[in-house]
Amino acid sequence: MTNYTPSSNIRLLQESATIAASARAKRLRAEGRAIIDLGAGEPDFPTPRFVIEAAHRALDAGATRYTSVAGIEPLRAIIAEDATRRRAALVDASAVVVSAGTKQALFNACFALFAAGDEVLVPTPGWTSYYEMLTIARATAVPVSGPRECSFKISAAELARARTTKTRGLILNSPSNPTGAVYSRAELQEIVAFAEDAGWWILSDEIYRGICYTGEATSLLSVAPPSGRLVVVDGLAKSMAMPGWRIGWSIGPVSLARSMAALQSHTTSNATTISQHAALSALSDTNAYRSALAEMMAELRRRRDGALVMLRQAGMEVIEPEGAFYLFIRAGQASPDNPEPGTRVAERLLDSHDVAVVAGAAFRAPEWIRVSFAAPTADVFEGVRRIVAAGIS
Ligand code: PLP
Repeated sequence: MTNYTPSSNIRLLQESATIAASARAKRLRAEGRAIIDLGAGEPDFPTPRFVIEAAHRALDAGATRYTSVAGIEPLRAIIAEDATRRRAALVDASAVVVSAGTKQALFNACFALFAAGDEVLVPTPGWTSYYEMLTIARATAVPVSGPRECSFKISAAELARARTTKTRGLILNSPSNPTGAVYSRAELQEIVAFAEDAGWWILSDEIYRGICYTGEATSLLSVAPPSGRLVVVDGLAKSMAMPGWRIGWSIGPVSLARSMAALQSHTTSNATTISQHAALSALSDTNAYRSALAEMMAELRRRRDGALVMLRQAGMEVIEPEGAFYLFIRAGQASPDNPEPGTRVAERLLDSHDVAVVAGAAFRAPEWIRVSFAAPTADVFEGVRRIVAAGIS
């Protein structure tokens, strides 16, 4: 048997815990267990018909070749137009790089902005891949948390405490995966002012911006720092139920966009051509986009509200999500004997109650579990009923 020793590039890397949890649920299902999967972070809705039809048309028209690395011009232009509206200042299409999902846009940004010796603040609980992407870039992810009663949202006070001479940047994610917390304009302004003063880059992941139950979440583009040290990433996986199409993008200073495109030119080249045409149709037909999103939001809201009632009636500690589609539930108090109560509870829910959730350790919050309500409504309510019955916290 060949013995593989991981290279120093990969040695510190952890597999994506969210994808691993989902894969485990799928495996058990394939073995015949009736698993309710509340682990997956992808909408259970189909991609809207008008987008699928546009993809068919693009295929028939021969959209099967490479495109320029940063994406087809009309797609970059429409993304730039939308950014211009939000920023109230011209954003040129050359500031946009279309990538194979928001994940690649984030990776390009982390790799192009940060390197060995740099510290980057990551609001925690935070999405699992931020920590790992920074590790791949050999930078150090520094978790920073606000108070529990503010859904862990950070402010200038926490930034000041976490700051060192090595801090180079900050990641923001509003609405947040996993807490669903949404930052107000005033909160963002305070953070931007602090980062600007400190000379940091801000990397704002806005993939859940359209999925907000309190009106549309504020984009960092509309409170952009005067220095322009801002990269906004977004995509269609969540808001248009297009996770498998792999379309995301970044908007940042043109010189940085060029570097990110150069990096992408040596890894994946352009995002899939057919998907780019589908994305163009999604973003061009604003009425169809809005109505597809509104339909999905109405259903997500029903699930969110219903699940919250069940959890609260049972006396469970849950963060009320203002955005995204996750319930973040406290699973117990960590102790030397049980340092990760969330992990134990997630295992018990899967093994004894056939419900898959993600342990909070994936988000550096070991006392919590994340329950996705991007699953069929009946599954969400039955899954939450089982969680309540299991009496986790
Ligand atoms: N950012 C956050 C916060 C996410 O939750 C996800 C997916 O779960 C992504 C980025 C990745 O999005 P994409 O599928 O567009 O790569």
